[in-house]
Amino acid sequence: MTSSAYWNPKFETCSKDDLRALQLVKLKKHVSWAMEKSPFHRRLYEASGVSAETIITLDDIRKLPFMDRAAWMKVQAEQPVFGDLITAPREQAIRYHLTSGTSGRQPLRVLDSPKDWQWISECWAYGFWGFGVRPTDTVFFAFSYGSFIGFWGAHYCCEKIGALVIPSGNMNTENRVRQIVEMDVTTVCATPTYAIRLALEAEKQGLDLRSSAVNKLIVSGEPVVGATKKLLEEKWGAKCADTAGMTEIGTIMMFECSHQPGGAHLIEDHFIEEVLDPETQEPVGYGELGERVVTSFGRGFIPLIRYRTSDLVKKVPHTTCDCGRNGDIYEGGILGRVDNMLLIRGTNVYPRAIEEIVREYVQIEEFQIKVWNTDYLVDEITVRLEFVPGCDGDNKDLMSTIAADLKRNHEGLRINVEEAATNSLPRFELKAKRLVDERNK
Ligand SMILES: [Zn+2]
Repeated sequence: MTSSAYWNPKFETCSKDDLRALQLVKLKKHVSWAMEKSPFHRRLYEASGVSAETIITLDDIRKLPFMDRAAWMKVQAEQPVFGDLITAPREQAIRYHLTSGTSGRQPLRVLDSPKDWQWISECWAYGFWGFGVRPTDTVFFAFSYGSFIGFWGAHYCCEKIGALVIPSGNMNTENRVRQIVEMDVTTVCATPTYAIRLALEAEKQGLDLRSSAVNKLIVSGEPVVGATKKLLEEKWGAKCADTAGMTEIGTIMMFECSHQPGGAHLIEDHFIEEVLDPETQEPVGYGELGERVVTSFGRGFIPLIRYRTSDLVKKVPHTTCDCGRNGDIYEGGILGRVDNMLLIRGTNVYPRAIEEIVREYVQIEEFQIKVWNTDYLVDEITVRLEFVPGCDGDNKDLMSTIAADLKRNHEGLRINVEEAATNSLPRFELKAKRLVDERNK
């Protein structure tokens, strides 16, 4: 057990040059492994005339073709059940997980070898340790422990660190809140949406989370906007850290350290994170919005090299945080999805930007964004707001204020606002689905 502030000081604080040299060695090795063991990758690379030998410098990664979800889905459908991108017979795997299948998509099937699984918990340890989780902590996972990979890896990282884990797969929200208080839990892990729900449930039960032992909230599973994070920190009286991963690549690829730089550090000794213009596929500079394309060195059973994530991010240098880590930072974490942008009457609307505004108002308990049109004509957007019970009275005034705020932040676009009845909007434990697109239906 390290007494350092870093889980892996050797690689989290080495020079950028050393980091790049390490990435190059790992990249060549991984491409070579993928070509040798996975027929899918062999086909892909032979068709493009590339191999490990064509990679001389790190920039040569751009010679490698992309891999995306559609191609993975296709081989999975053509050669059930895993497709020919697995590098070993399925009986050599120890873990099976399914993606959450958001937006009505078919889920992807993922397998991990013992080595892959060990790597996943190691990557989580970078994040948990970096945010201050220690063997003396009691960590509560408000998580279902099902086929969705979610916090599974984080659970194993806690065993590695030596923290006490309290699983809660079988508990409802009410019981979870009671357990958190009764068991003197110090660290709570949940999606940001569910962490709000837990806090509201505590208020309902008359439990004061601010005076409980909880001092760290670690959120994952969906992007967390600044206003939501602030709300969580207030309601829980704890520091909140953002982490993000992806079932396909590894369940944590970035984490917020205890210095809370307003973004998440990349784990650059285990991943190469490119940020590209989604249209031209050319790299964009620091501070510019682009699509994340990720190469993961730890997933051996299903190699992921230049995987297009559709996540929108803005990379800033590691020096914008003073913790001393060498991993660059995604400012604000994941900022949205390339495919989540709505075009409403010529104006770009991101659900995240709406959430950023709505969460400024503590009177709002839940919300939903509905996009619709009549007779295939003019697109309309309506934000449906559900108020915290007992907050009625001034709802009309508040709705006009929120409507004005939304309009001001969207180039004058008319965004309808309507009140939803108490408990009428869906609640979420895993990934929140607040966007309902009813256009052309
Ligand atoms: Zn830092």
